[in-house]
This record gives sequence, structure tokens and C-alpha cells, in this order.
Amino acid sequence: MELSSINPFARKQEIEAPQSNKTKEMIEISVGASDRIVDGIRNLLSIPAKLFLWNSKFGSGNISQETLDKMRNYLHENGLHDVRVSVNEYDPGSTWIRIMSNPKTSRLSKCTIGLADGIITTLAVSKLTGFPGDRFSPSANTIYLFSDDASIALHEAGHAKDFHTRENPVLYGLASRLPLVTLYQEAVATQNAIQYLRNKGDIPGVKKAFTLLTPALATYALYELWTLSELDLSSFLLCLFTLFGLGHLLGRYLAAQEKEEPSISVVSSSADKLLSAPHEAMKAVEG
Ligand SMILES: [Zn+2]
Repeated sequence: MELSSINPFARKQEIEAPQSNKTKEMIEISVGASDRIVDGIRNLLSIPAKLFLWNSKFGSGNISQETLDKMRNYLHENGLHDVRVSVNEYDPGSTWIRIMSNPKTSRLSKCTIGLADGIITTLAVSKLTGFPGDRFSPSANTIYLFSDDASIALHEAGHAKDFHTRENPVLYGLASRLPLVTLYQEAVATQNAIQYLRNKGDIPGVKKAFTLLTPALATYALYELWTLSELDLSSFLLCLFTLFGLGHLLGRYLAAQEKEEPSISVVSSSADKLLSAPHEAMKAVEG
């Protein structure tokens, strides 16, 4: 048995064929019908997250064409034409078909992790509850999007890009249950989104991404603390407010330091180092 078949961090050896013959219209973006009651309940349940992230569009459901266009462009420019985007939908049927017909997953993974993912998607009713909300599923090779924010959309597309470089995307997804791996995967997705915006010269977009995605990382830092230690309620609340506070401060600092010419910005390069620190730490276990 080759190590790469059991190492979740193994990267693909071969370079995929150029996607020059693919157009961005080939990317399937399916938008669910809006429903005032269902969307209203999800928006209500998303209020704590909206407050902590200080973003009213979180879980809003009404995704603007501008956000969808940015996501489509990202997927196209990164050759991710087989990724489906499910926008504010409850469509478990499509999810099951995608899981069971995904050519990139083995029969074993379809019948185990794929099955679990399908059941969660069917039962969790993200459209109603907002949980799980915006996410990328390697089993269904699908991005689920409920928030009308380009930073969040590109972050999820950044996950898709990261997973597509892995030898075994489903195993890589499963590895998020290991300590610190979730934080690493989130940092990589955020770094992918910010670097894409920077390459595009979209400095206002970079600033917005830092402002939103840095405190969002606090969610995952809190998750790691929660799993690594037994926090009582008062310690949990203390960590919650401290981490989000620090996340907002750091995000605003990095946004303020982002310059129009990032290549000559020392602080910008510091931000890169900050975001790539978990990446560097994980290199030791990658094959
Ligand atoms: Zn994420």
C-alpha cells in the first residue's frame, strides 16, 4: 500500500491537463427559491453569528449576482469546473446523486463518509437552520452558500481549490477531526481567497476579506480549544469574547496595513507569514 493512499495530506503527483477548453458557463450554480418564512427563520437563528462576525449578510440567503460572478470567476480561473455551487437550496436529491456519482471518490468512501455527509445534508436542513452553513463538501464536490459576501464565497472556493490538490480529498476532509487540522484548513482557504484578490489587484476586496475572515478564524480557534480542553461555561464565554475581539482587532489591523502595491509592503508580507504559519507547520506531515 502506498503511503499517499493513507496520508490525508498527500498532494497529487500528476499535474492536471490545462482547462483551456472549458468555459466558466460550464460551472453549475444552482440557486434555490427564496422563501420568506424559511429565510426569515435562518436569518433569525444566524443573529449570533452575524453579531460575532459583525456582518449582516451572513446566512442572508439572497446572494447577489456580483458575489456569484466572483465565485464563478475564481472556480474558472483555478480550473475547478466540476465543482457545483448550491446557493440557498435544500436539495438533498442532487447531493446524493453527486456523492454517489463522484468520479474522484472510491466506492468505500461513498459508502462511509459519503453516506454520512448525505445523511447530514438531508437531516440538517441548512436552508432552514443555517447549520451547517457555508461549506465545501469533498464527497459531493459541492460548495453550499447561504451568505451574500464575496469574502465568504471565495473562502469556500479556496477550500475547493485546496481539496482538489489532495490525493484523497475525502480523507483530507476527515482529517479535520484531528487537533489543529481544522484551523490549518481554514487558514489555507482564507489565504487562497486573499491571495486571489491580491493577484487581481482588488485591494478593497483584500481589506474586506481580512476584516471578516480573520475573526471567522476565531471560531475555529475556539473549536480547537473546546476539543483540546474541557472548558466550563464561564471559560468558554471568556474565550469566545476574547478570541472574537482579538480576531476583529487583528483583521482590522491587517486590512489597514494592506497597501495598493502589496509587493513592496513589509506588513503585507507579515500578513502572508501569519496566514501561512499553520501551512508551514503542516508541511512536516505532508507527503
Ligand atoms: Zn472554511
